[in-house]
Amino acid sequence: MDNLISRTRAAVWLPCTQMKQLEAAPPLAIARGEGPWLIGTDGRRYLDAISSWWVNLFGHCNPRINAAITDQLGKIEHVMLAGATHEPVVALSERLAALTGLGHAFYGSDGASATEIALKMSAHYWRNTGQAEKNGFISLKNGYHGETVGALSVTDIPLFKSTYAPLLRRTVQVPTPDARLAEPGESAEAYALRCADALERHLAEHAATIAAFIVEPLVQGAAGMAMYHPTYLTRARELCDRYQVHLIADEIAVGFGRTGTMFACEQAGIRPDFICLSKGITGGYLPLSAVLTTDAIYAAFYGDDTARGFLHSHSYAGNPLACRAALAVLDIFEQDGIIATNRNKAEGFTALLETVRNHPRVRHFRHLGMIWAFDVAGAHPCFARRFAQSALEQGVLLRPIGNTVYCMPPYVVGEDEMRRVVAAMLHGLSETADSSGYSVSDTDRLP
Ligand SMILES: *Cc1c(COP(=O)(O)O)cnc(C)c1O
Repeated sequence: MDNLISRTRAAVWLPCTQMKQLEAAPPLAIARGEGPWLIGTDGRRYLDAISSWWVNLFGHCNPRINAAITDQLGKIEHVMLAGATHEPVVALSERLAALTGLGHAFYGSDGASATEIALKMSAHYWRNTGQAEKNGFISLKNGYHGETVGALSVTDIPLFKSTYAPLLRRTVQVPTPDARLAEPGESAEAYALRCADALERHLAEHAATIAAFIVEPLVQGAAGMAMYHPTYLTRARELCDRYQVHLIADEIAVGFGRTGTMFACEQAGIRPDFICLSKGITGGYLPLSAVLTTDAIYAAFYGDDTARGFLHSHSYAGNPLACRAALAVLDIFEQDGIIATNRNKAEGFTALLETVRNHPRVRHFRHLGMIWAFDVAGAHPCFARRFAQSALEQGVLLRPIGNTVYCMPPYVVGEDEMRRVVAAMLHGLSETADSSGYSVSDTDRLP
C-alpha cells in the first residue's frame, strides 16, 4: 500500500488537491469496490457515503451495469459520433427525451463540458435568431457549474475562481435562495420569492444582453448542499419566459433521483430550455454528459448554412460503453421502482439521523431525497479534514465542505450501513469539539 501511495505522489497529480498535504494525509489506496463499500489495498472497508463525489447510484461493481458494459464490449467499444451513429446513443437519447420532455440530446464527456455546451448553444441560438447581443450569462451566488474556463465563469466559489479571474468571462451572480439565508421568522418559500424578485429586477434591466440563466435546481452542491424552496424555480421559469432568457438547469449533481424525483426541476413543475446531465448518468461507471434541449432551439440550428449548425465536439461524445451503462441505470430505475423505493428508504434514514439532528453542535439540518446535510457550530478552520479523518477511522468516507457535513449515499445503501454513518457522524462531532494540533488550511473548504 505504501508503495502505491509513494508512486501516486511521484506520478499522479490529484484533482482539487494541494499535493503537499498528501504528506500528512495520504490518499485512500483502493483495491476494489462492492456495493456501497470501497475496499482498501490493506483490506479495510470504507462505506462510500458520498457516492464517490456524487456519481455512484447503484453501488460499485453492480452486476447489471457490469453485464451491460461487458455485452457492449463484444460489439463496438467506440465510434466517432460525427458521421456515424449507433443503437446505444439513439436508445439513450430517446429515453432521456421521454424523461425530460426535451427532444434532442448533445453529448460530452463530463459535467464541465455539459456546461460549456449549454452556454455555447444558448448564445449561438440567439445569434441564429438575429439577437447576437444576447450573449451574457447570469448564475446564482455560490453556484457551481464546473471548472473549465467557460464553466468557471458562471461558477461562484472564490477558492476555485479567484486565481483564474483574468482568464474568465464576466458574468453576474444573483442572490441565492439558499434557505439558510432567510431572515429570522421568514419561511424558505418567502425568502425564495424575495430572491426571485431580485432576479426579476436584474432581468428587467439587462435581459437584452443576457442569453441564459444557469442554476443548480433545488440544491447547490459544492456550496455545501445549500437547499432552497422549489417556488424559486417556478418563478425563475416564468421570468425567463417573460424576459426571453434561456433557463439552463444544471442537474449534473441532482439529476437521476438524487432529490427524490428523477429530475429536481419536476418538483417545481417546470421544464428548462436546457438540462445538463452527468455524474449519476452512468451510475458512476464511465465519463458521460448530455445536454438536452427543446425541439424549437434545435430547429434554430437546422439549415443549409454549415456555420448555423452547432460545430462543437468531443472525441468521446456518445461513447457506446458509457451509453450502455446509462441505459442499464435507466433500466434499474424502472425495474426496481427506485424513485418510490428511495422515498421509503429516505424516510427511514431521516429517522435514524434524528440523534444527529438533535446534537447540540448541529445547525440547519436539512434533507432532500437522498441527500442529508447539516452545519456544525464551533467548527475550527481545520474541521473538515479532522472530521473526515475521524469518519475514516470509523470506516466511513465523508468529506465535509467547510463546516457542512453531508451524506449522499449510493441508493443501494441499507439501514445497517446508514447506522454506521450516524455513528461516524456522532463520533466526528465529539472528536472535533477540540481540534488543536491541526493547522488552518483552505483545503477544508473543498468539496
Ligand atoms: C460536478 C458538477 C459539475 C462539473 O462536473 P465535472 O464532471 O466534475 O466536470 C457541474 N455542475 C454541477 C452542479 C456539479 O455538481
